[in-house]
Amino acid sequence: MLEIRDIKTTYGKIAALKGVSLDIREGGLTCLLGPNGAGKTTLIWTISGILKAQSGSMKLAGEELAGLKPHQIVEKGVVTVPENRLVFPEMTVKDNLIVGAFSRRKAKGGVEEDLESVLDRFPRLRERANQEAGTLSGGEQQMLAVGRALMARPKILLMDEPSTGLAPIIVEEIFEIIGKLRDEGRTIFLVEQNANLALDYADHFYLLEQGHVTFGGQPGEVDHDELIARAYLGAR
Ligand code: ATP
Repeated sequence: MLEIRDIKTTYGKIAALKGVSLDIREGGLTCLLGPNGAGKTTLIWTISGILKAQSGSMKLAGEELAGLKPHQIVEKGVVTVPENRLVFPEMTVKDNLIVGAFSRRKAKGGVEEDLESVLDRFPRLRERANQEAGTLSGGEQQMLAVGRALMARPKILLMDEPSTGLAPIIVEEIFEIIGKLRDEGRTIFLVEQNANLALDYADHFYLLEQGHVTFGGQPGEVDHDELIARAYLGAR
């Protein structure tokens, strides 16, 4: 669905992505694993248009995304759930969700229905709909960040390390939510350091090391321990 080819992204003279190619397949969960500093967040920011690739292409169902502005990429249906959630802390839960529908302002209507469906999916958000988002727990803020992305009616969800800073039991809960979205047939690209857990849910994975994709496949094809050791990834 999204074909990423030979993407190079730099910060000044520092080359963070040195020619990354991978495929995000339709209706599946593709995981990107890799140690700190490998370039995982840089790739998410490049796909979402916040960082500009120096070269390479990113084709969504054949249509080039490279060079588009972040809001245009969201309008195409590529929507990010950023690391550390980045909810608007002083806005209510409900208003945070409504902001998520902003990208489809041209296609008016359906916002109330989508809001209801997100609140049905996350009853804890419904209970807290009028509460300021900054007062939610970390796990609830992660749910809100996912819900906000769903309000944009994404074709692809890009999730950047949703487990960051959450207690293990909450991480399990977030992964159950991700698993459910995958089971519904959504297309998800998940960046994750918790390789053990990610490999339990992934349909496909890639390993990113020092700005290069060094390995890719299906979880069943590889020795997980070896993969995890190779990437120096944290254990569950
Ligand atoms: P982590 O798992 O720790 O979040 P990551 O795989 O997401 O790591 P990136 O944050 O994408 O890695 O960073 C990739 C490389 O780019 C690193 O070497 C990092 O130091 C460098 N880098 C990231 N942001 C900047 C920046 N704003 N300016 C300069 N270099 C940067």
